Amino acid sequence: MADTNVFEDAVARVQRIGTSAGIRAETLAALRHPLATLTASLPVRMDDGSTRYFVGFRCRYNDVLGPTKGGIRYHPGVTIEEVQALALWMTVKCAVVGLPYGGGKGGVTVDPKQLSRLELERLSRSYMRAIADSVGPDIDIPAPDVYTNARIMGWMLNEYETIRREKTPGVITGKPVGLGGSLGRDEATGRGAFIVIQEFAKRRGLEPGKTRVAVQGFGNAGYHVARLLQRAGYPIVAVSDSQGAIYSENGFDIDSLYQHKQESRALSGVYCSGSVCELVDHERITNAELLELDVELLVPAALEGVIDANNADKIRAPCIAEVANGPITGDVDEALADAGKVVLPDVLTNAGGVTVSYFEWVQNRQGYPLTLDDVRQRLSDRLVAAFDDVWRIHESEEVSMRAAAYRVALRRIGAAIESQGTQEYFAGG
Ligand code: NAD
Repeated sequence: MADTNVFEDAVARVQRIGTSAGIRAETLAALRHPLATLTASLPVRMDDGSTRYFVGFRCRYNDVLGPTKGGIRYHPGVTIEEVQALALWMTVKCAVVGLPYGGGKGGVTVDPKQLSRLELERLSRSYMRAIADSVGPDIDIPAPDVYTNARIMGWMLNEYETIRREKTPGVITGKPVGLGGSLGRDEATGRGAFIVIQEFAKRRGLEPGKTRVAVQGFGNAGYHVARLLQRAGYPIVAVSDSQGAIYSENGFDIDSLYQHKQESRALSGVYCSGSVCELVDHERITNAELLELDVELLVPAALEGVIDANNADKIRAPCIAEVANGPITGDVDEALADAGKVVLPDVLTNAGGVTVSYFEWVQNRQGYPLTLDDVRQRLSDRLVAAFDDVWRIHESEEVSMRAAAYRVALRRIGAAIESQGTQEYFAGG
């Protein structure tokens, strides 16, 4: 999405879907503007003794349903617009699943693979120092996103607790289990996506063995959804990462691919040094070609804006499960629907991560950890219920799955906003 502003695109989609659903102007106006977005410069002492200044952001988008919640991304492409778009999507997502949260997001403009382990730790602590006044278990609760992980959350938690001089595990989720993290948080986004795809498959009578899948992005979200789909009998014929993609007509063994990636991580420290492309000797394709493969299910699980006006008409998969946030730009929603494509929207499909983050936060507040089976069962219950809510609207109101998910969310957010009084109420007084 080279020339479209990702934030304007996200706002326009909310306004478009909200207007057609008859959502009140007051609710739509509230969702046009983030509550607050912090921009901070982050000084970091580098290993050579110099100090570098990185730019970090934290956006609290809307908190009418609860404290704001959302991940922190480390990526060279992070901008304030991207962070605000991601925070708006979190606002919608938490409402779709019925979590007691608003939406937030954070990010640092950095290529973390260029940093040493100690530089990465100093950056993470510097970021937490910058946002510490505006996060907290009842205010704003960060979590991992692209190129951040449990260890980074652990450093940030430690920095926050050092500043506050008290144990506050509920300030951040996706942290290591030893520091109060939840069992099952690492796989939660992929598992949630798998549950949503399975629910859809049941309704549509999709047979796993005849549903070939291409997965873009082999990180936390992409790996787990690929692993679970393969285990359920879906052939995973293509996977990719930032360096490129590989294709095999007969499908890959996801666990052995992952094993190779982990070995390269052991070599490089925090991030994998190798690419899936170097791991196995199969046909190499580009990330763009992966999106256009003749498969039954396409799973973008990397970054936003990968399907836009330039390639939407080339997508052959009849179903796209958005595991990444915002992989499809708003301007092609209609064209894809007209072409008969079903899109399982990000705000439902990748909501497993924030759902288990919610369980983690509840466990921290209660001081009572859940078992892995318990976490998985509760995740399944929540997502199947959310899927049912969305499917009901999709069928009864004859709108796309995305529009149905947004309708569910906007009605919940709208009810909360309107409970504080509407224009009619105040004008009537
Ligand atoms: P990650 O850092 O674990 O993995 C990202 C993956 O994307 C890596 O394999 C990387 O090589 C690949 N990648 C990067 N640039 C790429 C490109 N240009 N083309 C193809 N692949 C590329 O991140 P993640 O947590 O798996 O996040 C992936 C997506 O899922 C993001 O959109 C994120 O916002 C979304 N998401 C993540 C979570 C979570 O809990 N981690 C929750 C909800 C949504």
